[in-house]
Amino acid sequence: MANDKEFDIVVVGTGNAALSAAISASEEGTKVLMLEKGSENKRGGNSFFTDGAIRFAYNDLDGISKVVDSLSKEELASIDMPKYGEEDFHKDLMDVTQGKSKPELANLLVSKSYETILWMKEQGVNFVMNENQFFEKDGRKSFWGGLPVKTENKGIGLVEALFKKAQENGVEIWYESPAVKLEQEEGHISAVHVKKENDETLTVKTKSVILANGGFEANKKERMKYLGDQWENAVVRGSEYNTGDGITMALEVGAQRAGQYDGCHAHTTDYNAPRVGDYSKPGDIYKKSSYPLGLIVNPEGERFVDEGADFRNYTYAKYGKETLKQTNQKAFQLYDSQVQPMLRVEYNLEEATKIEADTLEELAVKMGVDETAFLKTIEEYNSAVQEGDYNPSIKDGKSTKGLAPEKTNWALKFDQAPFFAYPVTCGITFTFGAVKVNDKAEVLDEQDQPIKGLYAAGEMVGELFYHNYPGGSGLMSGSVFGRTAGKSSANFIGQKSLI
Ligand SMILES: Cc1cc2nc3c(=O)[nH]c(=O)nc-3n(C[C@H](O)[C@H](O)[C@H](O)COP(=O)(O)OP(=O)(O)OC[C@H]3O[C@@H](n4cnc5c(N)ncnc54)[C@H](O)[C@@H]3O)c2cc1C
Repeated sequence: MANDKEFDIVVVGTGNAALSAAISASEEGTKVLMLEKGSENKRGGNSFFTDGAIRFAYNDLDGISKVVDSLSKEELASIDMPKYGEEDFHKDLMDVTQGKSKPELANLLVSKSYETILWMKEQGVNFVMNENQFFEKDGRKSFWGGLPVKTENKGIGLVEALFKKAQENGVEIWYESPAVKLEQEEGHISAVHVKKENDETLTVKTKSVILANGGFEANKKERMKYLGDQWENAVVRGSEYNTGDGITMALEVGAQRAGQYDGCHAHTTDYNAPRVGDYSKPGDIYKKSSYPLGLIVNPEGERFVDEGADFRNYTYAKYGKETLKQTNQKAFQLYDSQVQPMLRVEYNLEEATKIEADTLEELAVKMGVDETAFLKTIEEYNSAVQEGDYNPSIKDGKSTKGLAPEKTNWALKFDQAPFFAYPVTCGITFTFGAVKVNDKAEVLDEQDQPIKGLYAAGEMVGELFYHNYPGGSGLMSGSVFGRTAGKSSANFIGQKSLI
């Protein structure tokens, strides 16, 4: 083993959480190394694959205009923006996690979200309005769902900007250099073992390590162990490298496991999407999110969820998992020609698997579903649709009556040809179970005491998300906890050097 390198802080991973941590630690004048398991052209983790939608408590349009500075006066005047303050973000987080998000962590995420988005902007990240989060009527844009902003050029733009800043700050980055083990000396983290070419292991001496290397979603064995056998063949929507290494390394030095190990974020994704994130096709182009406007049936031709239970931001993570329970882990999203023009852009990309037919009978045959059952489902649905004002910008209460499950909002009759079906399956995004951390991003041991010199951020933080999460919170969590971890570890080193 060579022993020839020394850094103040080693950050494991190069996703949004790791980059935020490295930038914030280097801002404090520390010497930082980032370790990436993949090659340079496969850097950036899940963060690279994202749509860039990012949640924060903006309060009102004025709060947004400080983040998205490209909006003209005319554009601002044409926007209807519902208020979204800290209490709204907190409520959304608690609602979708069934009240389980740990208050200390939830409060940090929510209360630092606005300050953090402005900090990201200072680091060179550009933000734009999220074109998927409003409906346009009479020249006005009505936003909904607390997620009006995204990063320019999606996750690609986000990580590019942060890599640039990290490099300007003098952060060193090693590619094809997975961290494999942590060392401690007198109760402090003292080194990281890094696997290099030819299986050689290099020991990097350091005073602090920030683990920001994701969950275990790309590890088939661990998926089956913790989430269940049905997750064996789930599509992995992002990085192939998030195999739980950070969790293993942390547990080996006494960290406490925390969070929902049998829970994960998942999304309905194109049935023919690549089995693992394809770095040449980023931008989250395979997801299928417009289902609140349509219907979903399984291969038996039956509905199995309330497509209109809520805005997509609050149901998509859950409905991916429901799809996994269907025959061949398959379902079909259905739209008729009156809602087809309102679908998100992904539905019209050449990568989208699309079935089109002029009649319902022809659609059933092309989908390969049980025709009789399918026609009965549609007939019963159409008869159950109630009168009401259809408005996709709000939960319009235009529902069905007498079905199981009902469609509780945005229920229009499915009767205008041509008809479209999109086959979908479940794609896993990231896992919820990880390690215990406090609001300084310190990793805690079995006695709830900080392991000196060890920090975690992003998907490595347990106890924040359970069952589901409000869309756009993953990136904000990476930024808030990454930035916190960077500051805390720089502060720890400062104190250590005074001892
Ligand atoms: C397709 C897709 C779309 C998404 N869209 C959104 C969205 O619009 N908004 C949102 O908020 N969230 C979104 N998410 C979720 C979001 O990506 C995550 O919540 C967030 O990016 C996690 O950031 P992270 O830095 O913790 O992990 P990652 O970005 O996954 O980074 C982990 C890093 O660790 C590296 N690594 C792993 N093991 C090792 C090791 N042993 N040594 C060194 N490096 C290692 C990986 O290669 C990677 O670089 C999406 C996810 C996917 C997959």
